[in-house]
Amino acid sequence: MILEQESILKQYFGYESFRPGQKEVIERVISSTNTLAVMPTGGGKSICYQVPGLTLDGTAIIISPLISLMKDQVDSLLALGIPATFINSSLTTEEQENRMTEIAQGRFKFVYVAPERFESNGFIQVIRGLNISLVAFDEAHCISQWGHDFRPSYRSIVPNLKRIGTIPVIMALTATATEEVISDIQELLHIHSQNVINTGFARDNLAFHIVKGKDRTSYIRAFLEEHQEESGIIYTATRKQADALYDQLSSRGIHVAKYHAGMSEQARKQAQAAFIHDESPIMIATNAFGMGIDKSNVRYVIHYAMPMNIESYYQEAGRAGRDGESSDCILLFSPQDIQLQKFLIERSLMDEAAKQNEYKKLQAMVNYCHTQGCLSSFILDYFKDHNSHENCGRCSNCVEKVERTDITEEAQMILSCVKRMGERFGVSMTAKVLKGSNDKKVHEFNLSTLSTYGLLRAYTEKEITERIHFLVAEQILSTEEGKFPTLKLNQQSIEVLKGNRKVEMYTAPIPTGDEDDYYKDLFEALRARRKQMADELNVPPYVLFSDATLKELSRYFPVTKDDMLEIKGIGEKKYDQYGEAFLEVIQTWRKEHPEAKTRVKISGSSPTPKPRKKEDEGPSHLASYKLFQSGKSIKDIAAIRDMTIMTIENHLFKAFKDGYPIAWNIFFNEIEEAKVLEVRNSIEEPKLKPLKEALPEEYDYTKIKAVLVKNGLM
Ligand code: ADP
Ligand code: MG
Ligand code: ZN
Repeated sequence: MILEQESILKQYFGYESFRPGQKEVIERVISSTNTLAVMPTGGGKSICYQVPGLTLDGTAIIISPLISLMKDQVDSLLALGIPATFINSSLTTEEQENRMTEIAQGRFKFVYVAPERFESNGFIQVIRGLNISLVAFDEAHCISQWGHDFRPSYRSIVPNLKRIGTIPVIMALTATATEEVISDIQELLHIHSQNVINTGFARDNLAFHIVKGKDRTSYIRAFLEEHQEESGIIYTATRKQADALYDQLSSRGIHVAKYHAGMSEQARKQAQAAFIHDESPIMIATNAFGMGIDKSNVRYVIHYAMPMNIESYYQEAGRAGRDGESSDCILLFSPQDIQLQKFLIERSLMDEAAKQNEYKKLQAMVNYCHTQGCLSSFILDYFKDHNSHENCGRCSNCVEKVERTDITEEAQMILSCVKRMGERFGVSMTAKVLKGSNDKKVHEFNLSTLSTYGLLRAYTEKEITERIHFLVAEQILSTEEGKFPTLKLNQQSIEVLKGNRKVEMYTAPIPTGDEDDYYKDLFEALRARRKQMADELNVPPYVLFSDATLKELSRYFPVTKDDMLEIKGIGEKKYDQYGEAFLEVIQTWRKEHPEAKTRVKISGSSPTPKPRKKEDEGPSHLASYKLFQSGKSIKDIAAIRDMTIMTIENHLFKAFKDGYPIAWNIFFNEIEEAKVLEVRNSIEEPKLKPLKEALPEEYDYTKIKAVLVKNGLM
């Protein structure tokens, strides 16, 4: 029988085979057996009810607590040509009534509803008269009091279900299920243990990393530099951190969005929409962000600081890579984070027993940060995942050869310099003194007469700064917060100075993601087309095709319909609706790249296309530059390439640095140039933000940057 389901999977969803657990769940549901599916985020739970819903007669009712997800799910089904709708409080009464009438006529194969619906008599009446194929509880952990996200309205559906009449089959789906939650769901929904399909928690496309001893903001900036054009989330532990990081990155001209509970609802909505629609691909947020976000192409999740426990960490980090493509989950750890989390627990309104429990969980989180073993395995063990697992081979402990260097001597020099400077200065002044810099201020404060002046002359100022940051991150040196944080010695510093403690510095490289084996410019052209079509249809881009599908297209660039149907994520239905538009993009691209040889994807086999050499891939910034030279405006180029204006400007600046000419008069005139340079010379710290503040309003960042780039000052 499952043959028919396989052809549905191929025809509608364009997938060749079922993922682990899907077949087992689908078989049971089709034979009217109540079933619970426990699969990790991105494991493919939707298919588990969508395929039976398409196989069976009647309408499937999907209960989902996340309003924002319903529209996405419905849009995705509509994009496949499957009649679906949703009912929730985001609709006006009139819209709800219209939809109910259509539902009563049996026009839909899938109806998504919020739990509260079951409290409405009108709704129950309509559903009673309907031919129902199945009822599915998505995010089923919300039904359990033991779950981390218990919703009473979800639980109260159960007694109301009887009022609907006979339901052929009930299914439940969740990613987070401890033993208590599983047995709770089983009991409530009458699911026999042999019908619990649990594929465990492992996420094979996620690479976990722990980063220690780095200045967090610099690390993030370096990471973003390495991962331009990719979408990601940066979680901070507090709103204050989120605000500060947002300001730091935006003042450097990096386009980021922000989300936390201290913002107005309007502002939060806007930020979320910009993120989902790939307009602000980077989101800085507290843990208030993410519930109900199904964006499939999140390539990385960075934790700016250690979260409270492994449950939250795995849930937040798990928002990366829902599309199955490799993604990075990075935790920036510093021992100070432990104090902060302890403080948050202490301050909370929990009773003493609950607090003790939180401390226990916090300890496990700290252990995760210090383990030398495989990070994925650590997490799976924590969740008592009984499926066998070996070292993942992807996490920072499995792959990175962390380099360790003994810097005890340098540390002693730094510490004694801090002492000689009277513990009254910050990182950069200390670095200058150790370097033996001729900076005006060093002389002004008479610091060049200190015995530690020039002690680390052999190092660059940057290297010295890095080492000071490392000592701070490791709490071998303290900082006193204030407008200008000053360095102070602490007990650990004394131990190091006395020679009782060794200091080892370690460095881990920034993950660079996969070696590209697809044509980037084609990928970008396809992305631009997708964005344009998605905007017309008013749906998030990933609803049309996932990034994984676009990458396959840019790897195989099919020319015929049959070739295209071999691509993961493109079935007959999707081809009918969007196939030709994308084939067109591919054809245009092929004309410009006659040298590219078609690689036919052969069904069943999974050919490993040869990775292309870096050289023959036109650098992205030069592609922008070419368009610019052909007379296109920056705004047009941004639209064509589906990138932000900021990115295009940076591309042009980069091209200039590579030696390509730029007509600067589109950015500034001579008077403006002179003004920027003059003000730059007059301010103390010649950085972008103070410069912007010192200039008149109409000098925007682009103008200022352009002047600096032209004059080799940036
Ligand atoms: P979950 O609800 O379990 O978090 P989803 O149902 O949203 O996950 O599926 C995650 C992604 O995996 C989607 O892009 C989906 O289309 C894809 N997917 C699901 N099943 C398969 C399959 N059998 N083969 C390939 N991709 C699949
Ligand atoms: Mg889901
Ligand atoms: Zn590992």
